[in-house]
Parts: sequence; C-alpha cells; structure tokens
Amino acid sequence: MLAVSLIWYSLLQNTACKQKSCRSRVQIAVASFKEVLTLTKKSVKDIDLTGKRVFTRVDFNVPRNEQGEITDDTKIRAALPTIRYMLAQGAAVILASHLGRPKGKPDENLRLDAVAARLSLLLGHHVQKLDEVVGEEVSLAAATLQPGELLFLENVRFHPGEKSNDEALAKAYAGLADLFVSDAFGTAHRTHASNTGLAKYIPAVAGLQMATEIEILSKCLHNPQRPLVAIVGGNKIADKIRVLHNLLRSVDSLLLGGGMANTFLKAKGYQLGKSLVEEDQLAVAVKIMREAATLKVNLCLPSDLIVADSPEDGTSAQVVTVDLVQADKMALDIGPQTRKSYGDLVSKAGTVLWNGPMGVFEVDAFAQGSIELLNTLVQSEAYSIVGGGDMIAAVKKAGVDKQISHISTGGGATLEFWEGKELPGIAVLQEK
Ligand code: ADP
Ligand code: MG
Repeated sequence: MLAVSLIWYSLLQNTACKQKSCRSRVQIAVASFKEVLTLTKKSVKDIDLTGKRVFTRVDFNVPRNEQGEITDDTKIRAALPTIRYMLAQGAAVILASHLGRPKGKPDENLRLDAVAARLSLLLGHHVQKLDEVVGEEVSLAAATLQPGELLFLENVRFHPGEKSNDEALAKAYAGLADLFVSDAFGTAHRTHASNTGLAKYIPAVAGLQMATEIEILSKCLHNPQRPLVAIVGGNKIADKIRVLHNLLRSVDSLLLGGGMANTFLKAKGYQLGKSLVEEDQLAVAVKIMREAATLKVNLCLPSDLIVADSPEDGTSAQVVTVDLVQADKMALDIGPQTRKSYGDLVSKAGTVLWNGPMGVFEVDAFAQGSIELLNTLVQSEAYSIVGGGDMIAAVKKAGVDKQISHISTGGGATLEFWEGKELPGIAVLQEK
C-alpha cells in the first residue's frame, strides 16, 4: 500500500504535467501505479473456494417505481458472474445488500424479497431469502448452508449498526463465513459493517465485478489513451465539484453541463435567472477555472443553453446564448452550438469519462444535449466510461448502452475513485 501511496503522491505533486515533455514521465509513474493496483488485490480467482462459506456483499440497490417494482435490474445482472463462479467452485454463498435508505430499522417497503425473486429468475437457481440481517435464524441457515447453495439476507441497512460500522455487527457477519467477497463497487466509498467492517475478522477478496471496476478505472484514469476528456453534469454539484480538482491533473479537456455548468457560468458573472446554481460553490468554481488555466486544461462551458419556465414545461423551451438568460427562465440543457463544440472534442478523444447528464434528460425537450453527445461518443473511436445512476438512465434512453465500453456500477464511488481517493472498500481487500 505504501508503494501505491508514494506513486499517488508523486502523481498529485506533478502539477506541471500538461506539457508534453512531462507527460511521459507521469505516464511511467502511472503505469507502475496501475500495475501495483491490479497486481496486488486478490480476487475470487486467486483463492480456493471449494467448501467455503462466503459472505458476499453485492450492490442490489436497484431503482424501483412507486409500486416497488424493479424498473432496472442492471445491478443484479452485474453480480451474476461472481455468484455463478463461486457456486460452480463449490462455495456456499451468503449474499448481503442494501436497498434505499431505511434509517437503521425495518421498513416494509424496502424488503429484499422482490430483488431475491429477480435474482433467482436471472440465475435460474434457488435463493433462500431470510427476513433478518443477523440473529439466530441467520446463523442457523448459514451454518447448514451446503456448497452450491445460496442464502440472501435482509436489507443490511435495517440494522442500526450497518452504517455506523458497528464492531459487534461486523463480527456477527464474519461469524457466518470463512471468507468475505466484496462485489459492491457502488458502496466501496463507504465504511459500513458489511462492506469493510467484517474484513477485520475474515480474509477479504474482490468479486469479479469489483476487480473489473478497479482495473478499468485505474487504467483509464492513470494510463489512458489520450486525449482524455471528462464530461461532468447533473445536479449533485457540491458532491462532484471536489472531484474536478484532481481530474484537472489528468484530463486534457473537461466539459461541463447541467447544474454544474450553470454554477460555473454564474461564477463567471453570467445571470442565470431561476436556473439551478449552487451559490455556496461559486468561489470553488472560480478556483477550479484558475487551476485549469494554470494547468493548461481545456475547461469548457456551454456557449448556449435551452431555457424554459420550468423543468416540467417543455413547451416553453427556447435556445439562448449564455449572456441572454432571462430572469424568469431556467437553463435546463446545453444548446446546439455547445452540442457541436463538445461533440468535436468527444469525436477526437482517446478516452472519455462521463458522469452526470447535460440536462434534465427525463423530459424530452431537455434530453437532446445528453442524447446527441452520447451518440457522438459511441460513434467515435474513444474508450468510453460512464457512471452515475441518472447518467446510466440517460444512456438507456439514448439506446446506446451496448455501445459504451464500460458502464461503471458506481456513482459516488466512481467519482471518489476519479478524485484519487483510496476507497475504504478497496483498501480492505487482501494483497496478493
Ligand atoms: P448522476 O446520477 O448521473 O450522477 P446527478 O444525480 O448528479 O447525476 O444528476 C442527475 C439529475 O440532474 C437529473 O435528474 C437531471 O434532471 C438533473 N439535471 C441535469 N441538468 C440539470 C439542470 N440544468 N437543471 C436542473 N437539473 C438538472
Ligand atoms: Mg443521480
């Protein structure tokens, strides 16, 4: 781990790396970083699973409609290779996941029965679903679980100790199994009992999905095919703006859209009417623009926008340049001129990292920015990585999900990875 930290340190210090002469030096450091990272973490493939009881943390936090029906099972499908592999190797598999935000107590709307049923259907395998997270019933079921069988615990966030990483709960999880497999990249940025806590007591290795995420994201962030273009949009501005500092150290161009772009435009002095702007973050935006100039990163903001009276009302939509947003309007998508200029950069990119849509893509009148740029992306030669729950929904709406090189299962985790943090859920995995 020390080696990784040292390489990171040298990377982050290397702020003058935008000049071509420096680039090669950084790439050497970066290549070693990738090797260190990918070679040191054990995965299920590095361990004998025969007859082992395996506590497996998955991320089945699937989107659901008001009736509680699953609207997208991508997250369940993403864990199937790991589950199938472990069952085939003769492991007894205990699955644990969270769903929604149950506040540390049981919530009837957030039970995992429908998720277990969908898993069973996709896997073509019996899934024994329990109604508890820990306790006598769980211990007994785990103790009698046979190789090739599958047990599924109740929503781990029903237990108050899950999010606080309670020692006793972590021990109880560890007591159910011989081995911990983490396949929940989506929660790798959290320090919770079921994704980091139990690793204190039993050996922890990566599932196949986790291993793939680590490998692809490391390579594309630290040793990418250039030009490296990052696109950041959406409405979680305060969360995402921190990431931009570190992204500036590796990207060639940074394209902003959505509420993020509005905040930067406001920081530049434009009037944005009723648009979503994070007033608290204006000073941070100014700092990032200065840093980009120093580092010679091409930081791009929209030159035109689609504005309307409200996000629900597509009928009043009109195109304006950024200096002409009226006081009663909201900027809800990037305009055609911006789509073209962003598209030109994307079509010449070697790698594109994209988190957060360019506009309120849920409404057709404000979806064009995201959809057109996604189409340009998939027609380009670039290796494309897309993350973020809403961004993935936008990819599906555009119908290009099969053409994206890697759809990351993490939203916040992917961003923190880009930010250069060592995620706690990765740190606990055993070195080879
Ligand atoms: P992701 O889930 O991909 O990380 P976010 O959660 O940050 O993305 O943001 C997605 C949301 O941002 C979408 O619901 C979208 O409607 C909204 N959004 C995008 N652009 C704007 C905008 N200009 N004004 C208001 N909301 C926006
Ligand atoms: Mg979101």
